[in-house]
Amino acid sequence: MAKIFCIANQKGGVGKTTTAINLAAGLAKLGQRVLMIDLDPQGNATMGSGIDKRKLALTVYDVLLESATIAEAIVKSDKLVQSGCSYDILGANRELAGAEIELVEVTRREKRLKLALAQVDTEYDFVLIDCPPSLSMLTLNGLCCAHGVIVPMQCEYFALEGLTDLVNTIKQVHANLNKDLQIIGLLRVMFDPRITLQQQVSEQLKEHFSDKVFNTVIPRNVRLAEAPSYGLPGVVFDPSAKGAQAFVNFAQEMVERVKTMNHKPAQP
Ligand code: ADP
Ligand code: MG
Repeated sequence: MAKIFCIANQKGGVGKTTTAINLAAGLAKLGQRVLMIDLDPQGNATMGSGIDKRKLALTVYDVLLESATIAEAIVKSDKLVQSGCSYDILGANRELAGAEIELVEVTRREKRLKLALAQVDTEYDFVLIDCPPSLSMLTLNGLCCAHGVIVPMQCEYFALEGLTDLVNTIKQVHANLNKDLQIIGLLRVMFDPRITLQQQVSEQLKEHFSDKVFNTVIPRNVRLAEAPSYGLPGVVFDPSAKGAQAFVNFAQEMVERVKTMNHKPAQP
């Protein structure tokens, strides 16, 4: 059965999508079977995986509204298949913004994605969910089916602001809807070691959250930012770049983390 992870942080522009697509590619590179789900109506993870969101016949929206099965809506990217480092994609586009309102009417609305995933989760080792920058019904659907949350964050002065809201939401979901859910870890991204403040915040994170902070640090790297315009994750676009290598290391760390997760009782 797949291990399911949400990449979440209600702040925008903190590196969620970059983490989702590069972790997916990194895991694929290590031979893991991966499904990447785009839960953001902006569809950046879809585009960044080489899928044109405007041409998608079926998306995660259809799955949530049950007008298609998950198997029908999952696609592969030709570019990724050609690269030999491929993962499956359940894409999103702006249509998904309407799901928030349409789901209000339906029963068990926060469990729609969970029910759908149950149909395919034996086919994957990892499912990664790229969440929108909000604690909305879409994010809730992600949190309800996940075993863990990966929180990308920049080591800046306000980094911890907002983390409290996310942690409280995760605690509530853990208590009421999903006993398996835990924060797997905080991932330091866009890191620039030359900036003293970033080093200080990074140290503070380690002190406060100890083993909840991933060992891998993702550096600020322009190749990671350029890659999506070619419809590729940085890991595939320029495997030799520092950022790409860091994400492969992170994928390795996740593979190790999953092994220990199976032995520990879940805690938020
Ligand atoms: P989010 O999904 O949280 O909104 P993104 O992953 O889209 O954040 O990242 C925001 C911006 O920062 C994008 O332009 C992305 O290319 C860039 N970016 C993300 N991570 C890095 C990095 N490690 N180095 C350089 N640029 C990055
Ligand atoms: Mg995003």
